[in-house]
Amino acid sequence: MKLNDSEWCEHKPTWVGKIAVAACGECGRVDWFSDTGPVDPSEGLAILFGSFDLIDHLDALGAPSPTVLAYSAPSARKRKNLNALPANVWLKVAPDLLLSHDHETLYFRPTTSCSWTI
Ligand SMILES: [Zn+2]
Repeated sequence: MKLNDSEWCEHKPTWVGKIAVAACGECGRVDWFSDTGPVDPSEGLAILFGSFDLIDHLDALGAPSPTVLAYSAPSARKRKNLNALPANVWLKVAPDLLLSHDHETLYFRPTTSCSWTI
């Protein structure tokens, strides 16, 4: 399957079960797909991280949003899903949502006032 390559970086997919995610720490782009074609970001997020528990609201310093939501994995097995995405970088997983993780905790940063739930 051919992904949208940017001029600057290579986007390699990581398969997690039946879903693949190509997350790029260079440009912050994230693409989701499956055997049958592209997957909606909210669906991809739900598959990888839907069972994670909201543990904290952190105050973010300034733009693009005042709050960062922290989630923890329910098990070590689920925590491995984090490794499908590069750590310690904000990735644009949806038009109004940034995601980051540090191998332990998953962070969501909504960039609009609409609240995301997974
Ligand atoms: Zn890239």
